[in-house]
Amino acid sequence: MKFSSRIRIRTWFYFILLTVGILGTLWIFQIVFISSYYRDTKVANVRMVADEMEYGILNNEIDVDIQIMAVRNNVCAVIYNGEGTLLYQVDSVGLGCYLTQRVIKNPTNVSDYIQRAQESKSKDFVLPLENIQLNQSMLVYGREVVADFGNYYIFLNATLEPLDSTVNILKDQFIYVTIAVFFLSTLFALLLSSRMARPIIKMNRSAQKLAEGDYKVKFENSEYGEISQLAETLNYATEELGKMDELRKDLIANVSHDIKTPLTMIKAYTEMIRDLSGNNPKKRDEHLEVILTEVNHLDRLVNDMTKLSQLQSKVLELDIKEFDIVELLDHSVNLMQGLIQQEQIDIEVMSYPKVIVKGDEVKIGQVIYNFVNNAIKHIGSDKKVLMQLLVDENVRIEVTDHGDGIAEEDLPYIWDRYYKVDKHYQRQTMGTGLGLAIAGAILDAHHAKFGVESKVGEGSTFWFELPLVKVYENES
Ligand code: ADP
Repeated sequence: MKFSSRIRIRTWFYFILLTVGILGTLWIFQIVFISSYYRDTKVANVRMVADEMEYGILNNEIDVDIQIMAVRNNVCAVIYNGEGTLLYQVDSVGLGCYLTQRVIKNPTNVSDYIQRAQESKSKDFVLPLENIQLNQSMLVYGREVVADFGNYYIFLNATLEPLDSTVNILKDQFIYVTIAVFFLSTLFALLLSSRMARPIIKMNRSAQKLAEGDYKVKFENSEYGEISQLAETLNYATEELGKMDELRKDLIANVSHDIKTPLTMIKAYTEMIRDLSGNNPKKRDEHLEVILTEVNHLDRLVNDMTKLSQLQSKVLELDIKEFDIVELLDHSVNLMQGLIQQEQIDIEVMSYPKVIVKGDEVKIGQVIYNFVNNAIKHIGSDKKVLMQLLVDENVRIEVTDHGDGIAEEDLPYIWDRYYKVDKHYQRQTMGTGLGLAIAGAILDAHHAKFGVESKVGEGSTFWFELPLVKVYENES
């Protein structure tokens, strides 16, 4: 709740800030600067009329158009020559025209204005005035026009409308507009913030569930791209966490099972030797043999665990060299000769005389050993294991059996540690569940491609690829 109200208040605050900014700007322009803006506009208008008149004088075309323009702009105008003689007059504002009512009747005023225009640097002047008689503000504009045939003086007079009442109306309107805008922006800010906050609040709830260990929780997508992306990332993380948790549970179950079972056996057989078979060499040797098998298994398990954790923590560095993969395949088969003969397995190797690849020979040997060992463990009724070497840009090593195969749903997980397809495996055929995880980690460290193709009932092909250095087609 605290979280949601914070977003709301913030959004509302920024909206109000924006509103205040906009209203303040409008207020300044509409009310504070309106008088000077109006006056500047008026001066610009008057100047425009003066420009026209100047053009008229210079081209000797003082005609009716100038009169119309003066009337339209609400100015009255007079033109004098240098001697102070009135040449032209447009009285469009009648009694309100200060020039015609007051100035032209007083020659001192006329010469005063002429002098002003002459002395001004820009040859023109703007004079604000108060018409006391009419209680009105006005301005007089004067300009000197220098022509070939003498100097002329244009004087224009415009009244300035009182703006007080307009400003008052604007002020009143502004108060209503301000109230309405505040109300609307508050409403809009609330709507917007709850729309924006809703997916985040939902996400927060899901995250809390996740924190409590619910890995089935789903983060919902929203109409905002960024939030949807976050939801996807979190869903992915949740899935991964879920898998890790499964793995952790499996790990504990497997490790305790794998360690506990041999320990129980060792304990039982040790007690048997102590209590029963200690004096019977034949029985004692049998019991000792069982103990040795179990100790060997424990040893293998601990070794595999260490190897895997070293590989995964990248402590173990690869010793990358060029070597003959064909020789390594033969070597791996030789290592298993005992088992192969005992189980009467037919191993077919389809290969080249010599293929040089790049990699860590010892570790790649472990991978091949694991693949072949698994193929033998899961061998089909044909008792055949096929080892194939395919040479292209890379060298692809395939180990195929025609056994039970692996179900599609198990395929993505067999490279995980302690993953065993058959959870109720037999002790005799029991592996450590770490072989493929180790093989995967070694191949990952080589940045090699690897995988498995398998169909239930048809068998499996485990493969990996290494960079090719050279291939010898015939023995040389
Ligand atoms: P394990 O020590 O149990 O063999 P691995 O990591 O080598 O552990 O293999 C993981 C699981 O993958 C095995 O338990 C087995 O179910 C499955 N598997 C591996 N190789 C094969 C294969 N050639 N045919 C069928 N299943 C296989």
